[in-house]
Amino acid sequence: MENNLKFYLDKALKEHFALGAFNFFNMESLQAIIDASLKTNSPAIMQVSESALRYMGEDFVTSLAKTAKKFNPALFLHLDHGKSFEICKKAVDLGFDSVMIDGSDLSFSQNESLTKKVALYAHSKGVLVEGELGQIKGVEDDVDVAVNSFTSPEKALEFVKKTNVDMLAVAIGTSHGINKFSRPPCLRVDLLQQIEKLLPCTPLVLHGASTIDKEIVKTFNDFGGKLEKANGLSQELLKKIVKEHNIAKVNTDSDLRLSFTSQLRKELSENRSEFNPRSYLDKAREKTAQILVYKMENVFYSAKKKQL
Ligand SMILES: [Zn+2]
Repeated sequence: MENNLKFYLDKALKEHFALGAFNFFNMESLQAIIDASLKTNSPAIMQVSESALRYMGEDFVTSLAKTAKKFNPALFLHLDHGKSFEICKKAVDLGFDSVMIDGSDLSFSQNESLTKKVALYAHSKGVLVEGELGQIKGVEDDVDVAVNSFTSPEKALEFVKKTNVDMLAVAIGTSHGINKFSRPPCLRVDLLQQIEKLLPCTPLVLHGASTIDKEIVKTFNDFGGKLEKANGLSQELLKKIVKEHNIAKVNTDSDLRLSFTSQLRKELSENRSEFNPRSYLDKAREKTAQILVYKMENVFYSAKKKQL
């Protein structure tokens, strides 16, 4: 029997590394995740939002994920930001390893009862559940939040106890999307410390954690793109948070989109007579895998943590 997601989340808590949770959008982006996880011997999470699930279709998502697991059994399929019981149930029934129920825009008691309902169903099928308390700013697929509302440590304790979630997404000042901050962010590490003191055994999840590297944005803009204010979370800060805190899952979406598209722009522009999609999709896949290898080794410290 292979080690499951719970095993790796507990291991991440104990050994202070994080599982990268990467949003994929086609075969090539998933292959980049597989390649990077194999090169670094990492466990990792391959995740889809509701809209990515619609884009690829559930049959493609599940069969792609099944294929990925053949290459690396320490890859786990997760639903990102499920907004209803129905979509979470669908993902559970499709065989996902875990689902996120995002009731963060509801009142505490509505969020609690929705999350509890999802957890009861998911747990009966052996599937893990991520809940969210507080709101994470920014725009990403089915999420659009104007201001941060930070996670209250006392409420987090009550929420986890009442809902029985396996992971908790915390709002400590990170932000979704590609234009994260108008000025350098002040992450509420103090809140994180209080949360982990009250919930020492709960794997915490950091959303909105793409670093939006300047060099990649430059490639994007040098080859006809127009991203004026793109910026992300400081890599140094992210490393420190992973190393020193109970963040066991780090969501990364924008960095994959950006590296993939930047490389596509470059290839299309430099090889103007090339009309075989495979030649440039291959380069986009390669560049994305390179970036993921770097993250797994140097930012999430998940390299060599695969244990079969
Ligand atoms: Zn998110």
